[in-house]
Amino acid sequence: MRWDHLGTAPPAPADAALFGADAVTTRTFDTPEFRGVTFHEIRARSILNRVPGASRMPFEWTVNPYRGCTHACVYCFARRSHAHLDLDTGLGFDSQIVVKVNAAELLARQLASPRWQGAHIAMGTNVDCYQRAEGRYRLMPGILTALLDRANPFSLLTKGTLVLRDLDLLVRAAEVTEVGVSVSVGFTDEELWRTLEPGTPAPHRRLDVVRALGEHGIGCAVLMAPVVPFLGDSPEQLRATVRAVAAAGAVSVTPLVLHLRPGAREWFTAWLARHHPHLVGRYERLYAGGAYAPTWYQRRITRQVHELAAEFGIGPAHRDGPRRITRPSPAPAGGPEQLTLL
Ligand code: SF4
Repeated sequence: MRWDHLGTAPPAPADAALFGADAVTTRTFDTPEFRGVTFHEIRARSILNRVPGASRMPFEWTVNPYRGCTHACVYCFARRSHAHLDLDTGLGFDSQIVVKVNAAELLARQLASPRWQGAHIAMGTNVDCYQRAEGRYRLMPGILTALLDRANPFSLLTKGTLVLRDLDLLVRAAEVTEVGVSVSVGFTDEELWRTLEPGTPAPHRRLDVVRALGEHGIGCAVLMAPVVPFLGDSPEQLRATVRAVAAAGAVSVTPLVLHLRPGAREWFTAWLARHHPHLVGRYERLYAGGAYAPTWYQRRITRQVHELAAEFGIGPAHRDGPRRITRPSPAPAGGPEQLTLL
């Protein structure tokens, strides 16, 4: 392993623009797992983010210890947020990872404030808090411990199997407060997974997480996101995915059709042109109205998935309450911590 520790040198211009000249340490690791990845370690000033337009969301507060995501999903809705850091939204999003190294201590302090009222906190709403970097930085145990110590309700959404490392903390937290865990599995097609979500654990391994959590008393929801038009939306594909979700023991399944906001749209379209050039025109037509597929299409997918969920005996998705993970608002306020969901 090679550490390229530049902490004593002046930060690069982009870093200085983002975090202040004294706040950034840049490291690279020469291990196969992190080859080509750069970590920007910062000491954040605040870790609790208030959600813009929270009235349309089932939660008002989020905690995001990372920015950028090595899971590298081509369609990732959070890509645009990297532009707010003066970082590239394509490969840069996949490989320039901002790490808030003081996230746990900051959260413990903020939760202890007399002004904090113990509101529900959502995690994994911008980028994945159990991406590969978490294996090295181990920020989540401290964050979960801070929440557990205050019996503060929380939820998290992930594609990372690493969440099982913290199973004990999740179980203990669930004994004293409301804990919601959702895993994102949009499809089970292995070939599509390899090219579209190249840095993530395979879908069947994510479903193993759902199963393991359930076996330990933590009912896990599945966010079936994204359903990918023309590539992952055939009746057979939807059926295979919902069947696998049911077999894993998910308490609910909520479909979310691919949406393509600026930042993600360009990156996805380039990928589509490389891997499925015959679909470029169909995508242009389906997304001619903007970032979202037409309502008729979304309704069709929702109906099909709900019918399959009923057939396979998956319980209804939570209709209310903080565990519910819903579609992002169509036009969230911009800014460095905008809400995206996986
Ligand atoms: S969709 Fe989620 S897991 Fe994939 S790159 Fe974005 S934040 Fe990471």
